[in-house]
Amino acid sequence: MPQIAEFQNHPIFALLLISMGIHVQKFTFNPFQENTYVIHDGSSCVIVDPGCFDRNEQLELTGFISKNNLTPLALLQTHAHIDHVLGCHFVIEKYDLDFYIHQEDLPTLTSVPTYAHVYGFPGYNPPKEPNKILHGGELLKFGEIELKVLFTPGHCPGHVVYYCEKEGFVINGDVLFAGSFGRVDLPGGNLETLKRSIFDTMFKLPEETLVYSGNGPETTIGTEMRSNYIHQF
Ligand SMILES: [Zn+2]
Repeated sequence: MPQIAEFQNHPIFALLLISMGIHVQKFTFNPFQENTYVIHDGSSCVIVDPGCFDRNEQLELTGFISKNNLTPLALLQTHAHIDHVLGCHFVIEKYDLDFYIHQEDLPTLTSVPTYAHVYGFPGYNPPKEPNKILHGGELLKFGEIELKVLFTPGHCPGHVVYYCEKEGFVINGDVLFAGSFGRVDLPGGNLETLKRSIFDTMFKLPEETLVYSGNGPETTIGTEMRSNYIHQF
């Protein structure tokens, strides 16, 4: 196989680079069926909410990254419930990643070891302390990937979503689900706060925005504005 470098000055290669865009790869991991996402630009990537726990799940994630020659640059958390953090220790150690989380969700993260065994994860290995503390409103850049951090509490105190305006998608964690919304009965949950996050932040995004949820299928902001169960509350 010829080396890619031989083509780098060819106009078709330049066109290929332009058309590559940003891609979102979804994985569904662990008994909670949590969605883990890898966002990449064909070269760099970020990992969001790694829920991979057993060896096969870890290999599925790392296999995708190596097969596509991606360089992981960061670990981003929407929030720190157990199903979203089961793979944090693994990916941080594997790729030596910066670890992003909202300040208000640090207690959610540090509480996981106290209850992990109750959910059947006595072997849960906590990750290192996050080194990139978010407050909401940041614009994060990783290679060609640009993500705006939107503070969306209610499901838990420090929930954020990662909005890619240029590509028209949002990594939404457990705020919206297709037809439904995140539970508010766990510690730090609050229905009124969640409603404000949904109506004042999520529903202010363009209707065509693609929503990647922490569980279940993708949806759009417009679909949820019209028919989400939150309207009953
Ligand atoms: Zn959650």
